[in-house]
Amino acid sequence: PSRTFIQLFNLFEPQTIRFNQRVFVNRNLKLPKIRAVGFDMDYTLAVYTRDFERLAWELTLDTLIRDHGFPEKIRSFDYDPDFAIRGLVIDMGHGNIFKIDRHRHVGRATHGTRGLGTQRRKTLYRRYPIIPSRRSYFKVDTLFSMPEAHLYALYVDLMDRDPGRRLKQEYTDAFHAIRASIDAVHQGGGELKRRVAADPARYLRLDPDLAATLEQFKATGKDLFLLTNSGWEYTDAVMSHLLDDVLPGFPRWLDYFKVVVCDARKPRFFSGDGELVPVRDVPRRRTRITTGGSLRDLERALGVGGERILYIGDHIYGDILKSKKSSTWRTAMIIPEMEDELRRLEGIRENQIKADRLFQTRLRLEVELNYQQRLLMSMMGLMDPASGGEGIHGADMEEARAAGEANVAGIRKELEDVERELASTRRKVLEPFNPLWGMLLREDAALSMFGAQVEDYAGLYTGKV
Ligand code: IMP
Ligand code: MG
Repeated sequence: PSRTFIQLFNLFEPQTIRFNQRVFVNRNLKLPKIRAVGFDMDYTLAVYTRDFERLAWELTLDTLIRDHGFPEKIRSFDYDPDFAIRGLVIDMGHGNIFKIDRHRHVGRATHGTRGLGTQRRKTLYRRYPIIPSRRSYFKVDTLFSMPEAHLYALYVDLMDRDPGRRLKQEYTDAFHAIRASIDAVHQGGGELKRRVAADPARYLRLDPDLAATLEQFKATGKDLFLLTNSGWEYTDAVMSHLLDDVLPGFPRWLDYFKVVVCDARKPRFFSGDGELVPVRDVPRRRTRITTGGSLRDLERALGVGGERILYIGDHIYGDILKSKKSSTWRTAMIIPEMEDELRRLEGIRENQIKADRLFQTRLRLEVELNYQQRLLMSMMGLMDPASGGEGIHGADMEEARAAGEANVAGIRKELEDVERELASTRRKVLEPFNPLWGMLLREDAALSMFGAQVEDYAGLYTGKV
């Protein structure tokens, strides 16, 4: 039976929603106004396992050795799925990776897998503003890129172990070879997709709430569509695994969707004017199954457009930013890392409050120290004829000076203690996060570039559909 919106709403009393499962709002959205809800597939509906990353890693190593003359010994590289996070920038000419904040200030950085020295970081990245869209930089902005960031870093380490100075061109060529190999591995009909289609249970995470969520959208009168850059055969294999025979009345995954667009070529899809081309070899069904096309033609097929459409995707550039620039579609960004990130944030709450309090105490002590030092100096000035004072002396004066000095020393000591405690509390705050890169959405006191883009472009954001 279909449910009214109010009934649905009651299912989700706010206090029952765990912090890390909430939907965060940058821009208010009236869900009843939405007539069609679109979904990206990869890393939105279909969230991949670590085994998938490892598979992509292995196949990329094969390709590098076979097609790009990389040495056999790269097979001993050990993939660390926690090495990289989204939002990093790879400086391909220098073998470096860095994280920047919303003001394009380079924070943490590595050369290969190891920390980049402060001096080098300043010389390379603090003299001129960083423009991450430059051709010599690569932005790690999908979860698909986790393996290539680590692979490049390990390969830079390997290159550096050979004697002799490394040239910019060598680092750059290595990156391009890795990029080309990843591209090749992801080709439709390639080994990666064949292996995933053959054993989807191993490579895809099943979300027990997914089918019910889609059904609830439909029950409130919304049409659903799928808009993916993956090809039809792969899409069919993945979606079948996620949704076939999950809910009564929906034997096929296609039963949830009004329009399916494969090989959509996002981001171009949003600004182009191509027409949706029906996929052949699919028995006639109510769902329109197409490839290519454009936003305009999709809106025609849906019979609705603009602000009446909510599109849910994981890629800040290909799904969110580009759709925003060419349409008034409302957007929701899926950030699969968020569930973990927010759980960690909850865990550090007390230390964060403590760090804030220590920070305030430090400020107060600094002001106090400054004041007491001036007081002491002016008193000493009074006592010293050489600096224009009146040479006032006497027991009272000596006593006052001694008291002043003790006072200053006491505050200094207190300040040192507070600073030490603040530093250790800050370390505890960061402990649960990525050891190299810290939090996903923040860099020090500012939003990370990734966090800033989420804030600027995503209407809503949350951990999973
Ligand atoms: P979507 O997220 O559903 O639009 O699909 C993303 C598609 O892009 C998937 O088919 C991925 O295999 C593919 N893909 C991801 N990373 C790369 C890449 O680096 N090169 C080429 N294709 C990629
Ligand atoms: Mg995606």
